[in-house]
Amino acid sequence: MSYLGIEFSELRIAVFDFTGCEGCELQLANKEETLADFLRVLKIINFREVSSAGGSDYDIALIEGAISRSDEIERISSIRARAKVLVALGSCACFGGVNKLKNAYDLDETNREVYGDDPKETLPVRPIREVVTVDLEIPGCPVSKAEVEHIVQHLILGIPYQFPVYPVCLECKQRYTVCRFEHGQVCLGPITRGGCDAPCPAGGLGCWGCRGPAADANLEEFFALARARGFSDREVSERMNFFGAFEVRK
Ligand code: SF4
Ligand code: SF4
Ligand code: SF4
Repeated sequence: MSYLGIEFSELRIAVFDFTGCEGCELQLANKEETLADFLRVLKIINFREVSSAGGSDYDIALIEGAISRSDEIERISSIRARAKVLVALGSCACFGGVNKLKNAYDLDETNREVYGDDPKETLPVRPIREVVTVDLEIPGCPVSKAEVEHIVQHLILGIPYQFPVYPVCLECKQRYTVCRFEHGQVCLGPITRGGCDAPCPAGGLGCWGCRGPAADANLEEFFALARARGFSDREVSERMNFFGAFEVRK
């Protein structure tokens, strides 16, 4: 196959889900206007949501979800042993994601409360990188399909991919969104890595930091800014911990 006159071989990929909502996988299957081109350069070896194919001779493993059970530790270890490149896909895989909120609780007590006499096995949630070596992390809840497509293009052409170093605010201003702070809301845009095109401020929610910290994010200055606007440290830190990406305690 060739692209712009450059020869390449199709990428043999497999997608696997762990503790997550499968929203990142859905993103890959979404965006119909580019789906045909996207699939043309990929050989799907394993991807439960789009194909009944099942095999183990893949080069690239895309991992969605965090690790929260012992059988998941065994499964991710065997995938790691087979894959040449292992990619953590989405905030659950990169940081633990919303699942990680449960780590703040006594799991035995919570298990009894929820499941009574039939408790389920559950471990504290860990991101993939805390269990096996990860070659690339693509953050976002869910991931941006456009960003995944860019990364796949770079992998095909063998060119390193540079994630944005600027914060969400830059893209928010490019969209002419009125700042959520002006509406009396908290927004983590100033300290969160850009690349998502700032959909949450545009939708009226403020940013929750799903892509993790921007390069050189000044957390203390952000707390001071939020305090000056009347928001408590607790309110801000709870938002920062929502996706497990900042891990601050205030
Ligand atoms: S990162 Fe978000 S969309 Fe992706 S699996 Fe986790 S909860 Fe779902
Ligand atoms: S709404 Fe959020 S992302 Fe947009 S400019 Fe304000 S702080 Fe930055
Ligand atoms: S605006 Fe913030 S919470 Fe929303 S997608 Fe972007 S990084 Fe995630």
